Amino acid sequence: MNINSQNVEQIVRQVLQEMSGNSAPATAGSATAPGSIPAKSRAAMLTSLEHYEIKEFPIPELGDDDILVKVEGCGVCGTDAHEFKRDPFGLIPVVLGHEGTGEIVKMGKNVKKDSAGKPLNIGDKVVTCMIFKDDPDITMYDLNKQNVGSGADVYGLIPDDDIHLNGWFADYIVIRGGSTVFNVSDLNLDERILIEPCAVLIHAVERAKTTGILRFNSRVVVQGCGPIGLICIAILRTMGIENIVAVDGEEKRLSFAKEMGATSTVNFKEHGGIEALAGAVKNAFGGYLADFAFQCTGSPVAHSNIYKFIRSGGGLCELGFFINGGDATINPHFDICAKEITTVGSWVYTLRDYATTFDFLKRAKGIGLPMHKLITHKFPLSQINEAHVTNLKMEGLKIAIINE
Ligand SMILES: [Zn+2]
Repeated sequence: MNINSQNVEQIVRQVLQEMSGNSAPATAGSATAPGSIPAKSRAAMLTSLEHYEIKEFPIPELGDDDILVKVEGCGVCGTDAHEFKRDPFGLIPVVLGHEGTGEIVKMGKNVKKDSAGKPLNIGDKVVTCMIFKDDPDITMYDLNKQNVGSGADVYGLIPDDDIHLNGWFADYIVIRGGSTVFNVSDLNLDERILIEPCAVLIHAVERAKTTGILRFNSRVVVQGCGPIGLICIAILRTMGIENIVAVDGEEKRLSFAKEMGATSTVNFKEHGGIEALAGAVKNAFGGYLADFAFQCTGSPVAHSNIYKFIRSGGGLCELGFFINGGDATINPHFDICAKEITTVGSWVYTLRDYATTFDFLKRAKGIGLPMHKLITHKFPLSQINEAHVTNLKMEGLKIAIINE
């Protein structure tokens, strides 16, 4: 038998596992010395509606292009909430979690660099972006690649297979060759957990810029102050846009919008009817309508309303409808034609947006925006069901699973 380092590691692993006793399943980390890799990994698998089971799977042998990552944490996304409640994508059984980050603990011999060309080493902190199965050599410089949904998968939203460790709600994840992966060791854990949702907004702002209307210190209205709207405000601030009015129905969220950089806020519950509401937005801008608007809610009524906040010749970016929320009514004459409104839609992100997001997070910290406050709740993996129930109650902003 040819005993190479991999065999030795395997033997050590086996011995350690036997020492811990095979009768009870070993919890990840507990059966091994610090820093070494256990034989099995926990993973939270959504096995039926509103029910995760913590399962254990063997950590497979890595291929030459694969990376084993020890998960540090993962945000709970709106998409996870939809899956938890109704499984609209038909993924059950599935290990969810796509806003994750962790540390490289093992790499195949071909892995040398990340998708931006930065070196990758054991101990580096990484995030993943898309998996292009048909074109494994893709990098962020291939700008012709469009966003998720056009032939690309994402870890945490792919059906279960023999490897099982496909989502970030786990102790370990196996990143296979052909995935895009980024070395983000220069960002802290909270920042790394926020990369994925921030990339959605970086993409939206890039889409908005294509209208030519969004400029330094434009008047911008952001409707909806959940995590998406709040991150939108933060990005606008890092771009030198300081005249921002936030619209929402909850005072708690509106006051947070101010912390994130909104100049003033409008609570739509205090203004009956769209005329009064549009008047309040105009007042908040000192007597002007907005040059540009970001629609960050999933409410059709909110979509109908937002045209009334925008000046003639202004622009709109609609990014709130991650799922079908139904039809919205607008008046094509008043809302679009007569005012010459330029509208763009925005959906998810591209690889290039990921790289921009890393810079955004550094700049946000540089100008003192409290990004870390977006993560309002942290749960261990064992409480993943509670984390999702808390998310559904909409009491907090971003809920995160943080591994012990
Ligand atoms: Zn997400």
